Amino acid sequence: MKFDLETVVIEESCRTSALATRIMSGIPRSVGVRFVSDGRLAVRSPIAEHDAIGSAKRRMVILPRRGSFLMGCPASSTRFACCGYLVLVLASNCPMDCSYCFLQEHLANNPAFQVYANYHQALDELERLVRDNSGRNLRIGTGELADSLAFDSLTRISSDFINYFSKHQNLLLELKTKTDEIDHLLTLDCRGRTMVSWSLSPRRVFATSEHYTAPPQSRIKAAQRVLDAGYKVGFHLDPVITYPGAEHDYLELLEDVFDALAPQSIAFFSIGGLRMTPGLRAAARRRFPADKMLLGEDVLGADGRYRTFTPLRLRLFSKLRERLAKACPSLPVYLCMETASAHRSVFGAAPLTPAALGSRLAGC
Ligand code: SF4
Repeated sequence: MKFDLETVVIEESCRTSALATRIMSGIPRSVGVRFVSDGRLAVRSPIAEHDAIGSAKRRMVILPRRGSFLMGCPASSTRFACCGYLVLVLASNCPMDCSYCFLQEHLANNPAFQVYANYHQALDELERLVRDNSGRNLRIGTGELADSLAFDSLTRISSDFINYFSKHQNLLLELKTKTDEIDHLLTLDCRGRTMVSWSLSPRRVFATSEHYTAPPQSRIKAAQRVLDAGYKVGFHLDPVITYPGAEHDYLELLEDVFDALAPQSIAFFSIGGLRMTPGLRAAARRRFPADKMLLGEDVLGADGRYRTFTPLRLRLFSKLRERLAKACPSLPVYLCMETASAHRSVFGAAPLTPAALGSRLAGC
């Protein structure tokens, strides 16, 4: 196990679950274990420490999920050109600690690292989704409220889903990560229906802002290895941060990717700018006061988020799109949480509908 845990809290109702058994047998003896009658209280309980969000990342709570597992992407909005992404919530929070991460605000009231022992019920929800959407290609990811792979070699949750998706040619599972924790995936047969995607940033952003993540070169090397093992691979240039020298750094990053992987072998790139609500910006600056990446020239938008001054942001997006098109004209590229007018400015054309783009990305 690569990431440190201090405590595992198990709700009594999950004491004999397969997930709790696997986690108990995989953690070091130094990790404290306790049982509680209601895991929700352990998730919410305040920790009397200076950095409650940072501390909660090392407290894993095993409990049943009481709500649905499947949902539309929380980033989707009629304000934005949308990619039709669906999200499976199998865990919540992340042991890494990027200074810009939206989880600092999103999970402020229930910050412990939650894993859901009844995750098999998500397969029933997927069955209903498949039944109600026959013929549609759907892309479904587990990496929105948690990194898909950070603890997966311990929990082994992904393998059941890789197996399920391998039997459905119109579904694509996306495991999104900033780790290089892929060894346990290499012997599974995904039959081309699972993609591992990496959020990628230049070395400078990694060094200042992406604490405890794998270095960009390690992520790219891991991408090479899963591609060789039969997985699809995608990349998210997200968040793109517009700092002095950013254009050079991001283009250099793309050279690193294309030195390692043929552009034709990559399923897609997404591009999204740094965006922060006032609450997230305040939390991030408080927790990471030395991070200069959080201090750019930003403007509050109609959706209540700060973004880099639009002409600067879209100029950088356009440079990236040009480089990607040069590498492979048919390589799908889309913008995340940007308006149709931003899309027209970068691509010279209106965005596809969410259903059309979603189907295209799922069929990649
Ligand atoms: S890796 Fe992703 S989920 Fe984890 S802290 Fe960084 S941005 Fe947040």
